[in-house]
Amino acid sequence: MLTPGKRVWRKLLKKQQRKRRRQKYARERDKEEALEQGIKETDPEYQAWVKQQEELEEFQRLAAERVQQDGEEEWLRREALAQRQFQLDRAKLRQQEAEVERLRAQQAKELEALQQEQRLRREHKERLAEEAAAEFEAMMQRMHEYMEDTGNRTPPSELRRVVDTHPEERLCEFFTRTNCCRYGHACTFNHKRPMLAKIILIRHFFTHPLLQGKDTSTEYANGDEHLQLTDRDLRADYDEFFKDVVGELEKFGKIINFRAVRNTLPHLRGHVFVEYAQERFALKAFINLQGRYYASKRLNVEFSNLNGWRGAICGT
Ligand SMILES: [Zn+2]
Repeated sequence: MLTPGKRVWRKLLKKQQRKRRRQKYARERDKEEALEQGIKETDPEYQAWVKQQEELEEFQRLAAERVQQDGEEEWLRREALAQRQFQLDRAKLRQQEAEVERLRAQQAKELEALQQEQRLRREHKERLAEEAAAEFEAMMQRMHEYMEDTGNRTPPSELRRVVDTHPEERLCEFFTRTNCCRYGHACTFNHKRPMLAKIILIRHFFTHPLLQGKDTSTEYANGDEHLQLTDRDLRADYDEFFKDVVGELEKFGKIINFRAVRNTLPHLRGHVFVEYAQERFALKAFINLQGRYYASKRLNVEFSNLNGWRGAICGT
C-alpha cells in the first residue's frame, strides 16, 4: 500500500474538520430548534394556533369528503334515474310490441274466420249445384225410363205438376179456351200450364200468306206478279204441310189428332195442336222438337191441356 503524500493528508484532514464543524452546527441548530419547540409547545398561543390549524385541516378534509360523497350520490341518483327510464322505455316498448302482436293475431283470426266462411259458402253452393245437377239427372233418367217404357208406368211426379202463372187471380178465359192468350206472359190472369199432357202445341208452325192478315194478303193480291191466292191454294199448301209434318211427328208415337189454327189473329195464327195416344209420346216429341227448326223457324213447343177442340180451332 502506498503511503499518501503530505498534500493528500492535509486535504483529508481539512475535509474531516469541515465535516466535524458541520455536525457541530447541526447539533447546535437541533438543540436550538428543540429548545425553541419546547418553548413553543408550552406556549398557549402556539397551542391554540396548532389546534386551529388542525381543526381547519379537519374541516377541509370533511368538506372534500362531502363534495366527493355528494358527487357519488348525484351519480347514483342519475344512474338510478337512467335505470328507471330504461325500464320504463322497455316496458312501453314491450307493451307496444304486445299490442301489435295482439292486433296481428286478431287480424289473422278474422281473416281465417272470413276464409272459413267463404269456404263453407262455396262448399254449400257447390253442394247445392251438385244436388240440383243430380236431381235433374235423376229426373231426366226417370223421364227417359218413362218415355221408353212399354208398360203403363206413370210419369215422374215432377211432370204431374200444373204451373199457375198467377195462382191468386181468376182463370184467363182466352188461355183456358185456346191455350193461347194474346197477352202471353204479360197476362194478369191465371194461366194453368201443364208440365206434361197428351197434346203438344207448336206455335206459329203453319205459315201461309193467306193467314198473314188482311194487309199482307192484299199486298200479295196486288203485287207485281198478280198472284191471286185462293182458299184452294191454302188447302193444297196445308195438305202438303200436313203430310210432311205428320210423317215426322208420328216417329214419336201414335197421333190421334192433328189440328192447325186457321185464324189470322196474330197470337193464334198457324198454331198446331198434336194429340198423341199417350203422354209418353207427347213427351218424346216435346224433348226431340225443342230447339229444332222448320222452314227456317225455330220450333216453339209446349204442352197443352186443351179440353175441347171446337173452342180453339176455327176450321182445319
Ligand atoms: Zn191470358
